[in-house]
Amino acid sequence: MQDHRIRKLVIVGGGTAGWMAAAALRRHFHGGPLEITLVESEEIGTVGVGEATIPTIRGFYQQLGLSDIEVMRATQATCKLGIRFNGWLREGQSFIHPFGHFGQDLRGVPFHHYWRKLAQAGEPTDIADYCLGASLAAAGKFMAPPRNPTSTLSVFDWALHFDAGLFAQLMRRVAEDNGVRRIEGKITKVNLRPEDGFVAWLDLEGGARVEGDLFIDCSGFRGLLIEEALHTGYESWSDLLFCDRAWAVQSEGQGDPPPYTDVTAHSAGWRWRIPLQHRYGNGYVFSSRHISDEDALAELKAAVPDPLLHEPRLIRFNPGRREQVWNKNVIALGLASGFLEPLESTSIALIETGIEKIKALFPDRDFAPELADEFNDWSRREMERVRDFIILHYWANKRRDTAFWRDCNAVTLPDTLQRKIDLFLGRGHFVRYRWEMFAPPSWMAIYAGFELLPSAVDPSLDGVDPKALSAPLAEMRKAVREVVASAPPHQAFLDQYCRPA
Ligand code: FAD
Repeated sequence: MQDHRIRKLVIVGGGTAGWMAAAALRRHFHGGPLEITLVESEEIGTVGVGEATIPTIRGFYQQLGLSDIEVMRATQATCKLGIRFNGWLREGQSFIHPFGHFGQDLRGVPFHHYWRKLAQAGEPTDIADYCLGASLAAAGKFMAPPRNPTSTLSVFDWALHFDAGLFAQLMRRVAEDNGVRRIEGKITKVNLRPEDGFVAWLDLEGGARVEGDLFIDCSGFRGLLIEEALHTGYESWSDLLFCDRAWAVQSEGQGDPPPYTDVTAHSAGWRWRIPLQHRYGNGYVFSSRHISDEDALAELKAAVPDPLLHEPRLIRFNPGRREQVWNKNVIALGLASGFLEPLESTSIALIETGIEKIKALFPDRDFAPELADEFNDWSRREMERVRDFIILHYWANKRRDTAFWRDCNAVTLPDTLQRKIDLFLGRGHFVRYRWEMFAPPSWMAIYAGFELLPSAVDPSLDGVDPKALSAPLAEMRKAVREVVASAPPHQAFLDQYCRPA
């Protein structure tokens, strides 16, 4: 039998996506005949942003044999318990989307039904008071979640804010130590096989050529292989999500870093503030249809509270996705595969799931078309579901002060999102589709933060006396408060574990 296995895997690009793929795939195919080569150009450089993550990142680097503390030390990271949304519903109001559960389910019925029933009976309470992750974050404290939680009240998770450049360097070290070959050089031409249009080899400046069986395109927004060479096509979602530019700038760190990302609504978009141990990352994501670059820059500069470390950089993007993430013998990963604004820190998480898909559907050299079909279908659904979650944040706002917010509120929702909202607002039902990154607690956090609440609760509660709920729910809030009171400040955690010895 002929051996059709892929022998040469070429990764194009050495940003976060390229080096994450190199490190993870080298480990996955450890000891086998697969050669992995990564080509990158220092002169072209990387996008240089991407500092807020979601908890899946920890599972990703733990699979590479790295501990939380090793990664935190190597990347000047801080802990992230969630995202604080400021001024999204209306000016002056904030809420946290935590990585954690709310309350404790009773008699097999999700907690939020009891919470609503109590409120409908005249005792409204803040749902965040039933969530340990949200309450720790609000108090500026941090502790690792218990390993064997005795109740859903103590179920929460955490992620990192890290320096993107240092994280890519760490991934590079892991990849190279395990045998990935790195080639420094600018790719000047992508050569296709005349018979089927598959990529055959890359020409580099200076005359070298790099051949491969399978290419992973991590070349950033331009999509050097997937778009410039294969003309795959891009589905833009700019009619649903208006933001298409960002000013990004780093600033000096001042004060203790909070254990959450701040995202603050502005006149034509929103501003991120990401605390690291040695500095802050800041940026204004905005809609060029609603504000000029100059005015957006002025808004950003006026809002960042600490001295800037350099002049802000403008980044342009087109929200959407590559129509086929896998086309012929090229698989796009990272920005080359599409982009959704970083409101829920999903891009790096999509790189992780992209790598999982590559592992799960790794082809032979005969490239069975069903592999690419499955990969593309899975990628599309996953990305559409993230898109829907992000649209919800814009659509649900109650700000009417600028054209931007009014236009966001007037968007026609995709059917998939409308259905979710209808089900929730009816009787508090959640549906979770396949390949969905965000579980019901995340949707709950956003619904509650935007005061989108069900008009009725689960019918099994019809016989429950709301007054009887007052005491058990007060107990839950008390249990959360007691743990928060005994937890150390986030800064104390960093001082203890993350300072160089
Ligand atoms: P890049 O970093 O652009 O890397 C591209 C690579 O390709 C570089 O090494 C470059 O040298 C190489 N290359 C390109 N052309 C050539 C050539 N001709 N020859 C050789 N090499 C070439 N994600 C999150 O998860 N959280 C966040 O908080 C977050 N914030 C973001 C904020 C903004 C404003 C933007 C735009 C993105 C953000 N992201 C975030 C996304 C995140 O930055 C990216 O997903 C991540 O950095 C991966 O980028 P990349 O590796 O795909 O591309």
